[in-house]
Amino acid sequence: MSTTTTAAPTLTTSLAREFAAVLPEHCVITDEVGLRSYECDGLTGFRQVPAVVVLPRDTEEVAACVRVCARHGVPFVARGAGTGLSGGALPVADGVVISLQKLRRILEIDVENRRAVLEPGVFNLDISRAAAPHGLYYAPDPSSQQVCTIGGNVAENSGGAHCLKYGFTTNHVLEMEVVLADGSVITLGAPTAEQAGPDLRGVFLGSEGTLGICTKVTVRLLRKPEAVRTVLADFPSIEAAGETVGAIVDASIVPAAVEMMDSLAMEAAEAAVGAGYTVESPSALIIELDGPAEECDEQFAEITRICEEHGSTRIHVADSADERARVWKGRKAAFAAVGRISPDYIVQDGVVPRTRLAEVLSQIAEMGSEVGLRVANVFHAGDGNLHPLVLYSESAGEHDAAEDLSSRIAELCVELGGSLSGEHGIGADKACSMGRMFTDDDLAVMQRVRTGFDPEGLCNPGKIFPTPRLCGERPGPFRAHPLEEAGVISRL
Ligand SMILES: Cc1cc2nc3c(=O)[nH]c(=O)nc-3n(C[C@H](O)[C@H](O)[C@H](O)COP(=O)(O)OP(=O)(O)OC[C@H]3O[C@@H](n4cnc5c(N)ncnc54)[C@H](O)[C@@H]3O)c2cc1C
Repeated sequence: MSTTTTAAPTLTTSLAREFAAVLPEHCVITDEVGLRSYECDGLTGFRQVPAVVVLPRDTEEVAACVRVCARHGVPFVARGAGTGLSGGALPVADGVVISLQKLRRILEIDVENRRAVLEPGVFNLDISRAAAPHGLYYAPDPSSQQVCTIGGNVAENSGGAHCLKYGFTTNHVLEMEVVLADGSVITLGAPTAEQAGPDLRGVFLGSEGTLGICTKVTVRLLRKPEAVRTVLADFPSIEAAGETVGAIVDASIVPAAVEMMDSLAMEAAEAAVGAGYTVESPSALIIELDGPAEECDEQFAEITRICEEHGSTRIHVADSADERARVWKGRKAAFAAVGRISPDYIVQDGVVPRTRLAEVLSQIAEMGSEVGLRVANVFHAGDGNLHPLVLYSESAGEHDAAEDLSSRIAELCVELGGSLSGEHGIGADKACSMGRMFTDDDLAVMQRVRTGFDPEGLCNPGKIFPTPRLCGERPGPFRAHPLEEAGVISRL
């Protein structure tokens, strides 16, 4: 007599089967090559191949996928375009990636109320494109705006050059539909600015995919300004440029944007785009004013005077829309352009009070020369939001030194009274540094809030919060700490 034994299906096989029951076949990825496309985000030093990737097409399918994960106790990670720079969309080993790339419809442009209703996979720039025929636009403009999604922007509370005057994503999101970790669907915020109860909309903004999956979002649209003036001013030193930023703010002028680049960043951007930067200049500011034409003219005169007073060596006015676009193209392409002057680089993201800009930049330069690595700087100077780019060579074995320098820079920002992140988030990258900025009690309260949304901890675990796993360990499955298992400690 012969007996046939059927091997028990692996977890991945059962997951894939269950996903295939709620999604069309082409929306479930299990093959090695397909999975590898999702193994990291823009922080490529951290990689983890997931067990399954699913591509739902609407809220109901997102909720159905989340319910499959909940049934199996399997962690999942929401993913927009994967442009994040802090490892927020890094998969969990043996976990699921829920990609929102198929939820890409602009559901409504409500011209009268100046609002847009969007699916989360809509690209940031496409919102302004759709609103443009009505004289409207969406203000937050990450440099990645051509490719990053509004869902990712919500999760990261993204910023951009014009957030100095107009505020971050949180200032422009009115309402969100969210799928929680048990598959239930809730609404946070309201289509009007005022709402009753605690601001859970605000809690979700910037929670980096740890509280649920945003499946619909209503954002404010703004009327396009009457006039725009853009100036590119060179300075003999980073300090002089930093002092100019302070003087502009002291003069009670709030420009739409104040961006700073150092010579290394300009060299890279110039090689890529030919934006008209003076690469020999130690630093330059891009200053943009917008608003009523008369006000712009007055403030423009004042800004020119301030730049000259601080020793500006060249003041170039972008006097046409094309010229303005060229100046901004160089700035927005700068991160990617750095690839022209270094085989590898890490983009750091920290904040210092504006008054400490010059000090932090000189300390960063010193730290870089101590370890023999170059650091390029291109950042939102008006916000005090730095983006030091640590240049290194993987093949020369410099990766660990670069990561260490990058972390030390983030922690330096905290020491100087600033923050670990201005806009790129904490993700997997800086979770271990959170204890430098927050007390144990602060972190415990954050964890309690998280548990309120996601009691089982299935939603993007291992991000933002330092966990009982040893900091510095490579990402892997989220496991309970042995002391937790022994009942000595408990997770909040
Ligand atoms: C060249 C370059 C320039 C950049 N410039 C800027 C800049 O100026 N300002 C700025 O703020 N950022 C910038 N970034 C970082 C990045 O573009 C932003 O963080 C962006 O918001 C990420 O969007 P994404 O769609 O790529 O999200 P992803 O990288 O896919 O995900 C980011 C995080 O959001 C979560 N998430 C994604 N979608 C959802 C959803 N629907 N619901 C819940 N959670 C979700 C993910 O789990 C992850 O934690 C830049 C990146 C690059 C590569």
